[in-house]
Amino acid sequence: MDNNIAERLNSAYRQLAEIKQKNLSVRADAQLIAVSKTKPISLITEAYLAGQRQFGENYVQELVDKATALTELADLEWHFIGPIQSNKTRDIAKFANWVHSIDRLKIAERLSAQRPATMPPLKVLIQVNISDEASKAGIAAAEVQPFAAKIATLPNLELAGLMAIPAPAVGNDNSQAFAAMQALSAQLQQQFPQARALSMGMSDDWQQALTFGATMIRLGTAIFGAREPQPHE
Ligand SMILES: *Cc1c(COP(=O)(O)O)cnc(C)c1O
Repeated sequence: MDNNIAERLNSAYRQLAEIKQKNLSVRADAQLIAVSKTKPISLITEAYLAGQRQFGENYVQELVDKATALTELADLEWHFIGPIQSNKTRDIAKFANWVHSIDRLKIAERLSAQRPATMPPLKVLIQVNISDEASKAGIAAAEVQPFAAKIATLPNLELAGLMAIPAPAVGNDNSQAFAAMQALSAQLQQQFPQARALSMGMSDDWQQALTFGATMIRLGTAIFGAREPQPHE
């Protein structure tokens, strides 16, 4: 693997373009989120200078610190993709452009209430526990439709789609989970046509996720290299 972030980004974008061109079922608007959690601001700047604009963060304090330090990069877009505690919603409402990890109504209500009036509605994705893991975040597939109906009533949120983190699969074959998400997404769009985003696929399985209609792939290791293990990870 290459050590240079610009080269890793270029390589990922080259592959993304090739996959889009070869496979007509891949969404033309699919975009790459660079997951910068645990990585220093200097590397985010490096990726920004190489043309990357969407960044993903998992930890609220990191989001606050990084977004504050980089406010001058006005077209940089922050995607919050981690678990959310209710005492942290105010910071997320203030700094994030997107939240991928909505799975509790109370959290969504707080984000809507705390979104600053000067900002556009916060774009949110409902996190689905697609592999039905007892320990995992996300709501059950059967609950998506009724939950979405509640989220859609919140004035300062924009229901934009769905997100999933499938359980680790043998040989990184997540085709079953990805196919289930694709079906759920199609179902959701019948009622909420604007909810077109489908956030799935990480460094090990993003090519496959694209063939099942992913519109946002979340790449950490593939762009920034391995992470140090975190106490809270
Ligand atoms: C860390 C993380 C990623 C990136 O993982 P990699 O395997 O390093 O690409 C993507 N999505 C979520 C929700 C994450 O927490």
